Amino acid sequence: MSTLISIDARTGQAHGAPLPASTPSDIDASVCAASAASPLWARSDGAARGTLLRALAEALEADREPLVACADRETALGPVRLNGELDRTCFQLRRFAELAEQGLPYAQTDDPAVPGAPPVGHPAMLRQQLPLGPVAMFAASNFPFAFSVLGGDTASALAAGCPVVVKAHPGHPELSQRVFAQTQSVLARQGLPAGLIGMVQGADVAVGVALIRHPLIAAGAFTGSTRGGLALWAEANARPRPIPFYGELGAINPVVALPQALATRGAELATTLAGSITLGCGQFCTNPGTVVLIDGPESDAFVQQLVQALTPIAPHAMLTAGMRRAFEHGVVELVAAGAQPLLPSAAQNAAPGPQLLQVGGAQFVANPHLREEVFGPASLLVRCADLTEVCAVLQAIGGSLTTTLWGVDEDSEANRTLVRAATAIAGRVLFAGVPTGVAVSAGQHHGGPWPASTAPGTTSVGDAALARFLRPVCLQDAPGWLVAREGLPC
Ligand code: NAP
Repeated sequence: MSTLISIDARTGQAHGAPLPASTPSDIDASVCAASAASPLWARSDGAARGTLLRALAEALEADREPLVACADRETALGPVRLNGELDRTCFQLRRFAELAEQGLPYAQTDDPAVPGAPPVGHPAMLRQQLPLGPVAMFAASNFPFAFSVLGGDTASALAAGCPVVVKAHPGHPELSQRVFAQTQSVLARQGLPAGLIGMVQGADVAVGVALIRHPLIAAGAFTGSTRGGLALWAEANARPRPIPFYGELGAINPVVALPQALATRGAELATTLAGSITLGCGQFCTNPGTVVLIDGPESDAFVQQLVQALTPIAPHAMLTAGMRRAFEHGVVELVAAGAQPLLPSAAQNAAPGPQLLQVGGAQFVANPHLREEVFGPASLLVRCADLTEVCAVLQAIGGSLTTTLWGVDEDSEANRTLVRAATAIAGRVLFAGVPTGVAVSAGQHHGGPWPASTAPGTTSVGDAALARFLRPVCLQDAPGWLVAREGLPC
């Protein structure tokens, strides 16, 4: 296996000695320990799960300064963003603590017996939920706290009653080890098995593949690139016993900016959009990678405003040198596919400059290469002749985490058509603001039709994320002692 090493994202220099990558027997040991902890955790009550999740949040907060410093060195995301992300991660851990304490994982449907012949008559049916078992959790590079070792997948799986084995991301290996060490201290302090939260690390795909293939793994949760997600999804399905695989993948998040919105607020929207395109050096799964416009004077003015707003912005370094290369290659590919660059090239030593390109709607629909995510501070303007072409553009995108519609305030047939086209392809449709920023809340849906997610019925952010790790079971004519457990597995 290749060497795993912590790299300073700003300088490209190695930091510290190489870290040990997990061997096949390490991976087996982690999964076996998770499996051994599984029955105990499956029958834990909401108070126990809440206590663990709250203690994990407290541990992160107690070590905030060194953790943020380490994350900043490994990702270059900056202390403001990273402190905010740590807050969000703790909020998420506490939110799932609350949901477990409120009994969400133990919710039941009680369907008492109905006397008489079927189909009206039936026995007593008690539908409840069971934790799936050990979850393989694949961390993403661009959220070193919120989608990593103690991120949303780990929090929701633990709240559901499942142990977790994290496949740490090689982009922040030292931070992953530090956070993992904290989890082990918390588990020890609470007298819980160390195997309840395991971690494996490696610098090539072999570690993740071995993890998802392990026969004792019961589900996969993945946040990352479409290519990586699809490879692991295929592995999960090729197992002798296939398992659920919840892959939240990349997206191009179209923003449809209608002339009626641009006519009155064009300059303001251009500034907001430029900030969203370049936020975090564009390294967000919800980055607005496509902006759809209807030809006319309002759109022409908006393009000029967007060019002006983007030109002076100097994003920071990207997460890894590989991502920088992939970004620059992606822009070259867009140009090769016929997109016209609109900004002067402004690459700096450590950071890429923002990129804005444009194509026609028909061209965009005809060429799938124009619909590939370019991960970084880039956006592609798609210039359409009319509403019909806008809908064709959305349909060609097919699946996206978000779609934003600016200017559909009135109830009209045209606006209903657009809303139908947007909801058909996106997990979240915004009518104001920009798609970057994914609130952790009850109403959130972070997923969407393929290829945004491998499981479009599920979300990786928000309360409903917990349901991914539960399986319904119907207890028919159950004895009194089992009914009295009120959904707590025995
Ligand atoms: P990534 O390169 O796909 O890596 C994610 C994880 O998958 C890593 O642990 C990686 O391990 C593993 N992996 C990748 N390819 C694999 C393969 N072929 N077989 C087995 N394992 C594989 O993604 P990333 O660079 O961290 O994140 C950037 C991407 O994530 C962007 O496309 C972004 O849009 C997307 N993203 C999506 C969301 C969301 O919620 N939908 C959130 C954040 C980011 P190794 O590196 O060790 O191979």
